[in-house]
Amino acid sequence: MTKIYAIAMQKGGVGKTTSVVNVGAYLTAQGYRVLVIDLDPQANATSNFGFNKHEIDPSIYDLLLEQASGEEVIVEHDETNVNLLPSCPALAGAEVELVNLMAREYRLNRVLTTVEDSYDYILIDCPPSLGLLTINALAAAKDGVIIPVQCEYLALEGLTQLLETIQLVQRHLNPQLKIRGLIMTMYDSRTNLSRQVVEEVRTHFPGKVFRTIIPRNVRLSEAPSYGQPINLYAPTSPGAIAYKLLASEILSGDVVKSG
Ligand code: ATP
Ligand code: MG
Repeated sequence: MTKIYAIAMQKGGVGKTTSVVNVGAYLTAQGYRVLVIDLDPQANATSNFGFNKHEIDPSIYDLLLEQASGEEVIVEHDETNVNLLPSCPALAGAEVELVNLMAREYRLNRVLTTVEDSYDYILIDCPPSLGLLTINALAAAKDGVIIPVQCEYLALEGLTQLLETIQLVQRHLNPQLKIRGLIMTMYDSRTNLSRQVVEEVRTHFPGKVFRTIIPRNVRLSEAPSYGQPINLYAPTSPGAIAYKLLASEILSGDVVKSG
């Protein structure tokens, strides 16, 4: 059974894309068939895998508007074999254009029914907003939402609104939707603040915070400019070790590969 997760948080720059790209790469390295979906018009996941977002055509945009098929849009990252549904800046228009379409919240869900059989894991990288694109991701994420939380001042800000949106989606669009886990990102072991934030989030979400904490690590921020996930760019760095552990943690909570 394919596992479909949305990685969402409307706050910008908390580590959504970094988590999707690197968890996706480690799951693939373990032999799972992984599709990363870039659902953000910024197209950072697309760029992080080394693709030029200005040359992507067709993109997820065409797929959502039923102007192309999954097969036509999916590309493969040569070095890792991660499959990617790439984005491009035109996706920004979809947020508006989808509004008048039938079943506008289920566009991605419908797309996934045509491709999901080829994958063990589908990870959806959401834009930093709670607009129609993120709603599409939450409606399609049958196995839950993963929420990155940056270890910084006001880390919990924005979570209330996200939780309200998740509840609305549960009620109206995807009754199965649950929180798969919160990832604490950009942890700085030199500061008390980071430690306090982790404690605070664990208190608010008992049992829901992944044990693996992602440290602030410059290698993680360098890797995208080489078009490589961290397992290729700096496999022994603290950031790589953390994302490898996080991927294992996600795997250990899931039952996949029945054979
Ligand atoms: P957006 O909301 O804009 O899509 P995002 O939530 O996807 O942002 P990222 O793009 O993953 O966040 O990360 C924001 C920036 O922080 C990027 O430059 C990324 O390289 C860097 N970054 C992410 N995680 C780490 C980390 N653990 N250590 C150091 N830098 C990081
Ligand atoms: Mg992003």
